[in-house]
Amino acid sequence: MKEPTSFTDLGLNPQLIRALAGAGYEKPTEIQRKSIPPILAGQAVIGIAQTGTGKTAAYLLPVLFRIKYADGSEPRALILLPTKELAVQVAAYARKLAIYTDIRIVELYGGVGLKRQVEQLGAGADVVVATPGRFMELYLRGELPVKQIKTLVLDEADRMMDMGFMPQLRRIFEVIPQKRQNLLFSATFPPRVEKLAEEFLEFPVRVEVTPQATVADRIEQQLYYVPNLKTKINFVEYLLRQPGFTRVLIFTRTRASANHVYRFLERKKLGPVRVIHSNKSQNTRINAMQQLKEGNLRVLVSTDVSARGIDVSRLSHVINFDVPLMYDDYVHRIGRTGRALETGVAITLATEADRYHIKKIEALIRQSIPVCNLPEGVQVEETPQQELQQMRREIDEQKKKENPEYRGAFHEKKRKY
Ligand code: AMP
Repeated sequence: MKEPTSFTDLGLNPQLIRALAGAGYEKPTEIQRKSIPPILAGQAVIGIAQTGTGKTAAYLLPVLFRIKYADGSEPRALILLPTKELAVQVAAYARKLAIYTDIRIVELYGGVGLKRQVEQLGAGADVVVATPGRFMELYLRGELPVKQIKTLVLDEADRMMDMGFMPQLRRIFEVIPQKRQNLLFSATFPPRVEKLAEEFLEFPVRVEVTPQATVADRIEQQLYYVPNLKTKINFVEYLLRQPGFTRVLIFTRTRASANHVYRFLERKKLGPVRVIHSNKSQNTRINAMQQLKEGNLRVLVSTDVSARGIDVSRLSHVINFDVPLMYDDYVHRIGRTGRALETGVAITLATEADRYHIKKIEALIRQSIPVCNLPEGVQVEETPQQELQQMRREIDEQKKKENPEYRGAFHEKKRKY
């Protein structure tokens, strides 16, 4: 069989494909290519993939595909996660992917009153995203009909085991229908998870993405902590005024920052420079890559998606203007330097809020990235209040993800339920 290379090849419906295009996803990731077909075929699947590989959509897409539209009032799919933050995050993600359908997604988690969640369930739910404790609490109160549940997803299974959720999970398996499709996703597969999988999946298909984290030795990696966006821009300017930066690829997380960096470099006459992202036509992108290859371009600014799969070698430098959130991308990005050259330099700019992601990347590549001091010549700017708050909020979210007990130094305004 031909390897599916697009979301259409995977057999997803137009509603989902439209949502994926809206999210800026152009191609399925490896774990998505491997898991979506067996899940669509109704098989039990064990997916071993770390955060950052696209593993959430790897189960959300086929689950949403099979649910198709709102029907009746009782949930048909249940996704269990270890923490409130993850439940909120995955429910929001599912809503984003289901935006062109009428599928109703409800998240259930503890630490807040029951009233609103009960009301939401009463109004009808197709997919429930829950933490085990609250799920059981609502079930025992008779507020959560479970008879129609045909798909169960256990995500972050390793963390659920670490947090001692096994007894709760067993009780849930007892109350939901026996005849159902089971999916288990986990970043790692220690014996405890293996035992859980044996207990609850029959003849599973096991799909795995091995962290293809070999960073070629000839690539010199440098990591700089930079306080804010403005200083990052100043630093890029500083770098591009140094000798040796002859063929540079700059990666950004979003289209907006790609455009921002591009306009700045144009204004400072540090080019020739061009920008590519998913809003640019295929022709424009190929053209820009060609120019870079031929040496007619000094700098190309790009988002990850646009640069994937395009082969430009002989780059002098790769600059990660932002730390990638899909951690695999770090390997892809820096793999672009040092290909044909003897050595290449990959420079990563990180803020305080990126320390968390850097740690994950270092775990993935199984090496630490050398931290360098910002050179004297870089103009360091004050961090605007809004940017500072945004970073603090991100750090809080990360801490909560790691430790559900963490209450947060930065208090969000209390939501009204
Ligand atoms: P996850 O591994 O599920 O935590 O996903 C990591 C990040 O990858 C999230 O920010 C997703 O929005 C993003 N993502 C997931 N699938 C794709 C895709 N096919 N193309 C681009 N980005 C994706």
